[in-house]
Amino acid sequence: MAPDPAYCSTCGTELDDREIEGRTRRYCHNCAKPIYRNPKPCAGVLVVDEQKHVLLVKRTQPPAAGSWSLPAGYLEADEPPQEAASRELHEETGLSVSTSDITLHDTNFVQHPSGQHILVVIYLTTRASTTGSPTPGSDAGAARFWDLEEIISSAQRIEPGYEGIFEAAVRVTNTTTSDR
Ligand SMILES: [Zn+2]
Repeated sequence: MAPDPAYCSTCGTELDDREIEGRTRRYCHNCAKPIYRNPKPCAGVLVVDEQKHVLLVKRTQPPAAGSWSLPAGYLEADEPPQEAASRELHEETGLSVSTSDITLHDTNFVQHPSGQHILVVIYLTTRASTTGSPTPGSDAGAARFWDLEEIISSAQRIEPGYEGIFEAAVRVTNTTTSDR
């Protein structure tokens, strides 16, 4: 968790703690209201191919700039998460996928250096459901498929907190495409 704010962003008054709705929240006496802190939604898609490799992009923006993660980005104000996920996949990797061919896989919380908490909605699809060939977009330094061994052995280059999510994506895709 990021440190709680010390001052009201509206009026500048020093904030207090107050028990509200079962949580200790920052409270501005002058504005007579609590300071709610909510995550900002983001969405992305994991693409797994027939060799159980996962398509990752090299991040150029915080958080975790320079690490490899799933293609993902912030939702537009009126954009459903599956549409944002499909759009970001296309923008960052050049691959296209229909929103009807992606399924909800997991969610993750990450924290921006600014202190903003981000809720990442993670979808899953197969390479066979996509069209195009991986080409890094302007928001990605690189885009390529990784095998699981590589993800585990070079974990420090993977965005922290994602190794288990990527492993599970490979495991689930295994079950549905090869084992049945
Ligand atoms: Zn205030």
